[in-house]
Amino acid sequence: MRPPWIDAAWSVWVRRREGGRVPHAVLLAGPAGLGKRGLAADIVGGLLCTAPGPDGRPCGACRACTLVAAGTHPDLHRVALEVNEDSGKLRTEIVVEQVRALRDALAQTSQFGGWRIALIDPADAMNGPSFNALLKTLEEPEASALLLLVCDRPGALPATIRSRCQRIDLRFPARAEALAWLSAAGVAGAVGAETLDLAAGNPGLARAYAEPVARAQLETVLRDLAAVGSGRAAPGDVAGSWLKDKDATAGLLVLAAQAVRVAAWSTLGQGSPGKSAAALSGLTAGADFQKLAQWWDRANAIREQLRAPLRHDLLLLELLRDFRAVLRPSTAARG
Ligand SMILES: [Zn+2]
Repeated sequence: MRPPWIDAAWSVWVRRREGGRVPHAVLLAGPAGLGKRGLAADIVGGLLCTAPGPDGRPCGACRACTLVAAGTHPDLHRVALEVNEDSGKLRTEIVVEQVRALRDALAQTSQFGGWRIALIDPADAMNGPSFNALLKTLEEPEASALLLLVCDRPGALPATIRSRCQRIDLRFPARAEALAWLSAAGVAGAVGAETLDLAAGNPGLARAYAEPVARAQLETVLRDLAAVGSGRAAPGDVAGSWLKDKDATAGLLVLAAQAVRVAAWSTLGQGSPGKSAAALSGLTAGADFQKLAQWWDRANAIREQLRAPLRHDLLLLELLRDFRAVLRPSTAARG
């Protein structure tokens, strides 16, 4: 089921297209979880498809659509994070060689006689030299060529890039609309409301939080935070258990930050006190709201730092110690 906010963004695109106003560059931006990638695929597919539907979306069956699906359409150039051949690991940046190759590809004539499209995703993963190379391409646009930039954090793109792109922004829908969509997706009632609070209003993320794996992670996080906060568990032990499965650590930190945020707001009478709030709000009720807010900001910042080769055990230990200190200032000294 396609969410209503995607349909709204699609209408904006179709109106531009039908008015013959397809720009040279489009920046498709918005928080993760709202369906940007599916929208980008429809924009790309709709331009390349030889028999699009009445709504302008790709048919999914013609030769062009088959080639797009197989990743071999000669007029579609994808730029994404690539594996570094030296280390065998996925790069964390889109490097300048990739953008130069893209420029060369767009300078060729179309193989199918139609649009040539470059899809850069995630666009905010480009580094400085990549942005500079892209800027040259944006300054000398080719006819019938579209650059489609997709990213979660448009603010991370230089203003010179942003100003040369037409924006399509996906935004969180109103709460009632998000709840209706969640309900239709099988996440109804109190669970829908609770996960939407936990996801800070992002319905795509809320649906992910309703999955069994995320529910189990939330149980773990709530139990551990309550234990640390009440002094029943040592911060070091909890840090160790959160680091056992390295792939899960970032997810646990996000849930911890979100749960504390929901609990803190609920003690101020904001939002529905779901399970996460109920489990923690007894502890957070007496704490300084500003300090709690600083804490969940730090938890989110540390999630980013998990990508860097730092002592993750120490980062988490300090974070959990601080959580206890915020809740129980008098016992902080005991660590
Ligand atoms: Zn088609």
